[in-house]
Amino acid sequence: MIDRVNIYLKAGRGGDGSVSFHRGRYIPLGGPDGGDGGRGGDSVVMVDERVSDLSHLDNRESFTAENGLCGGKEKRHGRAGKNLVLRVPKGTTVYEVKEDESLQLLVDMVKEGDKIQVAKGGKGGRGNIHFKTAVNQAPRSAEKGDTGQTVRIVLEYKMVTDICLVGRPNSGKSSLLKIMTRAQPKIASYPFSTQQPVLGMIIGDARDYVVAEIPALDEGSSSGRGLGNKFLQHVERTRLLVYLLDGSSLDLSRDIDVLKAELALCNRNLLAIEKVVVVNKIDLADISFKMDEIKTELKPLDVSVFFISAETGQGVPQFSEEIVELVEKITAQEKFQKESEVKIFRPKPRK
Ligand code: GDP
Ligand code: MG
Repeated sequence: MIDRVNIYLKAGRGGDGSVSFHRGRYIPLGGPDGGDGGRGGDSVVMVDERVSDLSHLDNRESFTAENGLCGGKEKRHGRAGKNLVLRVPKGTTVYEVKEDESLQLLVDMVKEGDKIQVAKGGKGGRGNIHFKTAVNQAPRSAEKGDTGQTVRIVLEYKMVTDICLVGRPNSGKSSLLKIMTRAQPKIASYPFSTQQPVLGMIIGDARDYVVAEIPALDEGSSSGRGLGNKFLQHVERTRLLVYLLDGSSLDLSRDIDVLKAELALCNRNLLAIEKVVVVNKIDLADISFKMDEIKTELKPLDVSVFFISAETGQGVPQFSEEIVELVEKITAQEKFQKESEVKIFRPKPRK
């Protein structure tokens, strides 16, 4: 999955103004009649729900809008260049790359139809018809069209997911994703087997829910040792975090602390996301014995704790049902918040 591209966006050049003189059978000196050039096309970035990542923008370095056409004789205006529209998925952030290579945030594209003009097309040049004066009745010059803007941008796509599974290596994230959804992640007993975030869907009554497995988080992963850090950006916009624990681990509290520390290192806001804890591998005998003990141990955390086996499926249907309900609640709250936001209308500032 391509979630970051670095490209040049160019707007079109304006068309040149024309130099021309009216020629009529009975009008020997008809005067200038050169028309204006058309403006160059703008370069625009727009949200389109039909695209799912940025891979269609990955194989080119630059994209250019159409140039405006030149003006013609008999006052004909050149045609304007067509705008270039780059389609990106919902959840894409647009940054401008400054000369010192720093990134400046232009916009977060969060809704279908969101649109931003990144590079403005050049103005068309005026034709010689505009340059007739009392002393110069036959101007032999017209304006050139302006060049369009060129802007270097970085597009970064953050998945909008409902549920993210985070856990230490081998905790069973891939196995759980596979059994809850129809996704086919790679499952292996060696750590870091998942190299890319994997998505699946829980098919619900009201709608489908996007579940993502985030590659293993482990100590140091936010500083680059593991693989999870690169994908933590995707966690930012999820509705529910599932902390998946390997029940056979000797110290579950510590495992949770490691996950929390990793998330916090990346972005402290991640800790504020609604969460549940799931203890996996209860098919193993020694874990099913320890369930009560584990419950007591995790009680101080004050979060819901589930027990499942991603291998046998034990406890998984109930777990799926409950998290879907939770996500529904969170979504309803979001809607309520959005509706109660007060809108302030002011006259728009002049450009
Ligand atoms: P991930 O690294 O967190 O994605 O973990 P995987 O899903 O790849 O699983 C790691 C290993 O744990 C694999 O060998 C799985 O077969 C095993 N495993 C996962 N879930 C269970 C479970 O519920 N019970 C048992 N006994 N093994 C499991
Ligand atoms: Mg995995």
